[in-house]
Amino acid sequence: MQVPAQFEYERATSVEHALALLAKYGPESRVIAGGHSLIPMMKLRLARPEALVDVNELTELSGIEVSGGELRIGALVRHAELLASAEAGALFPILADAERVIADPIVRNRGTIGGSLCQADPSEDLSAAFTAVRANAVIRGEEGTRTVPVREFFTGPYSTVVGPAELLVELRLPIREGSGSAYAKVGRRAGDWAVAAAGAELALEGADVAEAGIGLTAVGAPRFVAAEAEDFLRGGAASAERFEKAGFIAAGHCAPAADQRGPVDYKRHLVATLTTRALHRAAERAGG
Ligand SMILES: Cc1cc2nc3c(=O)[nH]c(=O)nc-3n(C[C@H](O)[C@H](O)[C@H](O)COP(=O)(O)OP(=O)(O)OC[C@H]3O[C@@H](n4cnc5c(N)ncnc54)[C@H](O)[C@@H]3O)c2cc1C
Repeated sequence: MQVPAQFEYERATSVEHALALLAKYGPESRVIAGGHSLIPMMKLRLARPEALVDVNELTELSGIEVSGGELRIGALVRHAELLASAEAGALFPILADAERVIADPIVRNRGTIGGSLCQADPSEDLSAAFTAVRANAVIRGEEGTRTVPVREFFTGPYSTVVGPAELLVELRLPIREGSGSAYAKVGRRAGDWAVAAAGAELALEGADVAEAGIGLTAVGAPRFVAAEAEDFLRGGAASAERFEKAGFIAAGHCAPAADQRGPVDYKRHLVATLTTRALHRAAERAGG
């Protein structure tokens, strides 16, 4: 039987209370949200926090709303809630595409958006989706609030800019006129982690690409970004030939590792195909 080591447990009643508890217990304390990543790691003794600060009662972190030209998603929003949000799905269909293929209903009912990003697993689907749409992460500490682009949020595998006494409180997605987005993933079976996946957002001006965002997951793309493919697309025609070329560029610039999910060549092939597919779907949704 796998059991975690001993730890203290406190239930936060407000964001301020959570921050005070994190400060009180110090760098060996951890936030617990859905627990779907942290608890298995504790059982395997890959994580041994001395204290858990439970944020599940912080309803102030559980909203999805449009405000100030942005879609704002609280860190405690569950995967299932994001999938069920008609407003989020209409503005950013990439989110519904991604949520539909994340794990299974049990994980989606409990796992949170904030937990997914803070876990910073190199195969996390939402990391690529939020990268594609150039979301910003709002982080709170006792000293105040700071906003960090998701493209600068990840500092390496399982590592982010969120400090030990800070909380990720919200994701903010800028709403762009004339844009569309999509996510395409290949896993070995339903509900499994990605072998490879690509998310894309396109903003069109007439027949041209005004702005492109591409996020890749599970294939060693630096900070989940396919920057060279984005640069290639920006300012050119939104055409099938250029989407295919962008897919090849993305495949050439990522760094997948061979593992039980497949060899490097296969993963590169998937990146090319899935990036092209996501770009087509994003262009259709943008009205192109
Ligand atoms: C069987 C299974 C299958 C899965 N399949 C997929 C998949 O296909 N695709 C995919 O993308 N993911 C998948 N996942 C991962 C899952 O989506 C995430 O693990 C989960 O949603 C993380 O959220 P959580 O709320 O459970 O985080 P927790 O486990 O509670 O926390 C994870 C980490 O984030 C920190 N944290 C949480 N919230 C905050 C916050 N607000 N501020 C600061 N730090 C915070 C915690 O301290 C911890 O370090 C799978 C997980 C399981 C168990």
